Amino acid sequence: MPADNAVNRRIILAARPRGLPTLHDFHLESAPIPAPADGQVLLRTLYLSLDPYMRNLMDETGPGYAPPVPLGAPMVGGTVSRVVASHHPKFAVGELVLANAGWQDFALSNGSDLLPLDDLEPPSLALGGLGMPGFTAYVGLLDIGEPGPGETVVVAAATGAVGAVVGQLAKLKGARVVGIAGGAEKCRYAVEELGFDACLDRREEQFGERLANACPDGIDVYFENVGGAVFDAVLPRLNIGARVPVCGFIAHYNDDASSQPGTDRLPRVLATLLQKRIRMQGFIILDHYGERFQAFRREMGEWVRNGQVKLREDRVDGLEQAPSAFIGLLEGRNFGKLVVRVGQD
Ligand code: NDP
Repeated sequence: MPADNAVNRRIILAARPRGLPTLHDFHLESAPIPAPADGQVLLRTLYLSLDPYMRNLMDETGPGYAPPVPLGAPMVGGTVSRVVASHHPKFAVGELVLANAGWQDFALSNGSDLLPLDDLEPPSLALGGLGMPGFTAYVGLLDIGEPGPGETVVVAAATGAVGAVVGQLAKLKGARVVGIAGGAEKCRYAVEELGFDACLDRREEQFGERLANACPDGIDVYFENVGGAVFDAVLPRLNIGARVPVCGFIAHYNDDASSQPGTDRLPRVLATLLQKRIRMQGFIILDHYGERFQAFRREMGEWVRNGQVKLREDRVDGLEQAPSAFIGLLEGRNFGKLVVRVGQD
């Protein structure tokens, strides 16, 4: 049990952002630690995952696959948590679990959303390469992208939680991988450490031309993480029969819904899909856990153990740092899977 004088610090959604969130959209408050009822456990957050989808849940309308966070409620999020009190027959005090405790020190659960982590080391991997983002890369690339030997795969946000795994899995399948990332240091890492064949800085001039030079045989798989200017540069270079797993479009998450969009890309997109017989498929990773998660954990666990897939974590210390770290994620300041260390174990 927590100490008598302990409180539950939590970060609530204070206002709905217009455009890029600011620190004023979040509020750190203290509340009493809740007591578990029969059938519940009390969880202490050790690590909190910060992910781009959280920006979509801050809007009133929400993204459709999950409800928006109500104003005044704690921000939601995946966590690695320790069971510190239990009135649940299946979970003992001391057990380490993957949970959805959100941006707070403590939370209750009825157990239905908990996954025991046993001796996973370090446990925060369950929030990154061996968890939701890694699984997203695995399903999106292997089941939808289906890269073959010698094909060219392009992925942006290339050193991030999803993109870094996409590129490394594509290499394991024998593809040629071109990454796109924000800045020279990230690009160097993608090539030298992750083994990508090339990586382009999305902020440099003449991006479209440089992409064409880096993909002399066109693009067979474009793993869509960002949209925006990257998508514009990729579209004319897609090959006949290309596949486009549509995973996310972070360049637009801060768009103001009331402002007019820029140049309408839709006619160009549709014409390209049709003329080049391209498969472009959206997917939400929540749909694939039942069927594919076990295979992912087995294969990915082995690749990570053998050093065939490298995972980089960008770790921030302290729950109070979560808002600024999250804003940084939306601006490309994270380098690797962004995780907040909330509590000492
Ligand atoms: P990352 O760890 O890759 O962090 C986000 C990165 O996005 C930033 O570091 C930055 O990288 C890049 N970025 C930010 N703004 C822009 C911009 N305007 N244009 C281009 N790139 C930008 O995040 P994740 O790996 O967790 O997520 C990657 C994508 O996958 C997101 O779109 C996310 O929503 C999506 N996703 C979808 C899921 C699904 O079920 N479909 C599940 C999980 C994630 P850099 O500066 O290097 O370009």
